Amino acid sequence: MKNLVILGSTGSIGVNALKAVRNLGKGWRVLGLAANSNLKALREQARAVKPAYISVFDYAAWKELKASPPRGAKVLSPGVEGLVELSSLKEADIVLNAVTGAAGFAPLLAAIRASKHIALANKEPMVMAGELLMKEAHRWQARIIPVDSEPSAIFQCLAAIKPGAYDAALSRVFLTASGGPFYARKGTLAGVTPAQALRHPRWTMGPKITVDSATLMNKGLEAIEIKNLFSLPVSKIEILIHPQSVVHSGVEFRDGSVLAQLSNPDMKLPIQYALTWPDRAPSLAAPLDLFRLARLDFFKPDFRRFPCLELALYAAKKGGIYPAALNAANEVAVEKFIAGRLRFTDIPAVVEKTLAACRGDSRETLTLAGAVEADGWARQKAAATADGIKKR
Ligand code: NDP
Ligand code: MG
Repeated sequence: MKNLVILGSTGSIGVNALKAVRNLGKGWRVLGLAANSNLKALREQARAVKPAYISVFDYAAWKELKASPPRGAKVLSPGVEGLVELSSLKEADIVLNAVTGAAGFAPLLAAIRASKHIALANKEPMVMAGELLMKEAHRWQARIIPVDSEPSAIFQCLAAIKPGAYDAALSRVFLTASGGPFYARKGTLAGVTPAQALRHPRWTMGPKITVDSATLMNKGLEAIEIKNLFSLPVSKIEILIHPQSVVHSGVEFRDGSVLAQLSNPDMKLPIQYALTWPDRAPSLAAPLDLFRLARLDFFKPDFRRFPCLELALYAAKKGGIYPAALNAANEVAVEKFIAGRLRFTDIPAVVEKTLAACRGDSRETLTLAGAVEADGWARQKAAATADGIKKR
C-alpha cells in the first residue's frame, strides 16, 4: 500500500493527482490533504478519499474546519506547520508538493528531511535554493521526482544514462515552451488584461503559473529548476518555443544522439509518473496520434518582448540570492497584475528593479536560511517598487 500526502490538493495539479490516484486504483491510499482556504473543495475531496489527516493554511478556514472536521480525519495545525506536519508523517510514503510559490519551501524541506519520495510540482523552492535542497535530499536519501512536464521529460530522458554524470554526458538540454497566449501577438503587450493572460492556449493551470507562462517567466523558472535538479550549467539549456506542446523537452548526448519525451499535453501523465516512478502504469492521458499531429514547430524565443526570460537567466548566472529574489519579486508582481494593480509589462520592471537592488556578493555561499531571508527582503522591495509604479 502506498500512502500519499497531497499538499495543494484543491489546485489544478492536486485535482489531476486525485484523478491519477483513482486511476491507479488498488494499492493507493490518500493519507493526507492540504489546501490554502478552499474548504468547500477540500471537504468534497475528503468525503471522496477519506484522508486520515487534513489541514488548511488560512487561519479562519482552519477554525471552521476544526469546528466540524471531515469524518475520520484529524485536523493538523494551520499555517505552514500543518504543511510541515503532513510532509513528515511517519506513515507517508509519497508527498506530492503542489502548492503554489515559496509557501512550499518549508514543507519541501520537511519532506526531504523525512526521507520521503517527493513528487514535486512546486518549482519555486527549487528556484530559490535548489542546489542546497538537492544536497539535502542526497544527505537524507530523499527522492525528488519532478512533476512539471518539462523537468519530467528531461528526467525520463536521463534514465538512459548513469545517474550523477549528467553534465559530462550531455551537450545540450532542449527546454520547450508553448509560448503562452501572446507569443504570436503583434504590438505592445502593455494593455494586456489579466483575463487575456489567464487564457492559456494549451494548458489549464492555476492563475500564477498561467501568468508566468504568458510572460515566459515560467520557462526561466524551469531553466533554474532544471539546472538545480540535474546539476547542469545554464549555458547547456536551450529554450525553444514549441506551440504544439507535444515534445515536452529533451536532451542531446555528447555523441549527438537526441532523446525527447512526447505525449499529448495532459498533466495527469507526468503527475502519475512522479507517483509510480520507477514503475509505469496505464494513464488517463489520451495516446499520441502522430498521424493527426503531422507537424512539430520550434522557434527561438523573443527575449526582447519577453524580458522575464532574460531576467531569470541573468539571476541563474549570478547565483547566490538572485534566483530567490527573482522568484519573490515575480510572485509579488504577478499577484498585483492579477488584482489589476499593475500592467502586464510592469511585471518584468518590478523584477528587474528588485534584482538591481540585490546587495552582497552574488557568489557568496547561499544557505537555506539565507534564501528564505532573501525571499522576504525581495517581497518588500518588489511591493514598494510596484506601489511606486502604480502612483505614476
Ligand atoms: P493552483 O493555484 O491551481 O493550486 C494551488 C494549490 O495550492 C491549491 O490547492 C491551493 O489551495 C494550495 N495552496 C496555495 N497556497 C497554499 C498555502 N500557503 N498553504 C497550503 N496550500 C496552499 O496551482 P497549480 O496547481 O497550477 O500549481 C501548483 C504548483 O505546481 C505551482 O508551483 C506550479 O508552478 C506547479 N506546476 C503546475 C502545473 C499545472 O499544470 N497546473 C504544471 C507544472 C508545474 P486553495 O485552493 O485553498 O487556494
Ligand atoms: Mg512546465
